[in-house]
Amino acid sequence: MLSWFTNILSADMAIDLGTANTLVYLRGRGIVLNEPSVVAIEEFKGKKHVIAVGDEAKSMLGRTPGRILATRPLKDGVIADFKYAEEMIKHFIKKACSCTFSIVAMSTVIICVPSGSTAVEQKAIQEAAEAAGARRVWLIEEPKAAAIGAGLPVTEPMGSMVVDIGGGTTEVAVLSLGDIVFSKSIRVGGDKMDEEIVNYIQKNHNLRVGLDSAEKIKKAIGSACAPEDGEGRTMEIRGRDMINGVPKELLISERQIAESLAGPVTEIVDAVKRALENTAPELSADLVDRGIVLTGGSSWLSNLDLVLRNATGLPVSVAEDPLTCVVMGTGRVLEEFKRFKRVLTTVY
Ligand code: ADP
Ligand code: MG
Repeated sequence: MLSWFTNILSADMAIDLGTANTLVYLRGRGIVLNEPSVVAIEEFKGKKHVIAVGDEAKSMLGRTPGRILATRPLKDGVIADFKYAEEMIKHFIKKACSCTFSIVAMSTVIICVPSGSTAVEQKAIQEAAEAAGARRVWLIEEPKAAAIGAGLPVTEPMGSMVVDIGGGTTEVAVLSLGDIVFSKSIRVGGDKMDEEIVNYIQKNHNLRVGLDSAEKIKKAIGSACAPEDGEGRTMEIRGRDMINGVPKELLISERQIAESLAGPVTEIVDAVKRALENTAPELSADLVDRGIVLTGGSSWLSNLDLVLRNATGLPVSVAEDPLTCVVMGTGRVLEEFKRFKRVLTTVY
């Protein structure tokens, strides 16, 4: 009874602050918020104000009039703009709380940070959460959260490899005994793939498409490797003709998109190979049995698991729900705080 009461009055939460999406998990409730990590800013009389955050701000990306700028405060996995990142964190924390009860005494908040983030960046994230009302803020390195979310036995003396392929970054990590044995973060992920699609279509078809359209194309017919024969799936796309400026339509194929994605895919494969080269033999032996688990939205790119399997010779699987792995892992740490406390990072 008492614990039920405390649950109501507290809003212990786990936050996956991603470059593309932010997810919030409330203790005892599960995921209550899942929105793009975007803020819209308006400049008025020389001053900038945040006018929208999340879903609302994303719909403004690329479509905003001169005075309004829609931006992502987290770029390449790090905070590109402290002020807006802070406003975004505050907004999401408040929104997640109001979904439940109006009287909320904020308690523990666990936030994911990229494994390569600096002490200054970590401190900034912690302070933003404190400014939003959090009483105690803990940080967890993203690969640990991803691995816990994917159900890997991270606290056991056994090597696990997780590759989290998000919007701005790909994090490759080998974990054992609750710690990161090796990790490498590269600034390649879904965003880079979208940019490559835009560049490819522009270069080969003189057609300008937006990043939003490129992302849709990637999700619909994107692939990490070309089909064995033929053009594969096709899709009608629209954009602006670069020569005469008029709207134009054309049919694009899976083979073409696979070709455009070759660069980012190779960079991801190389990062995984480098991590394997840097792994101690005993842990490598565990990986031969247990394989590599992919998390993050971009691990949904068709055939990426296959390409990694061919390149490493190891079993590769995509986590059950790659988009929610990190927040679910962080949520599990929150629910089983005593058991997992030692995987958390302390900020000084
Ligand atoms: P982050 O943790 O950086 O916020 P996410 O794990 O939320 O990133 O993943 C977002 C990325 O996943 C975006 O770049 C998005 O385009 C990509 N993505 C989502 N679904 C798919 C899909 N079906 N195929 C390829 N990429 C996808
Ligand atoms: Mg992520």
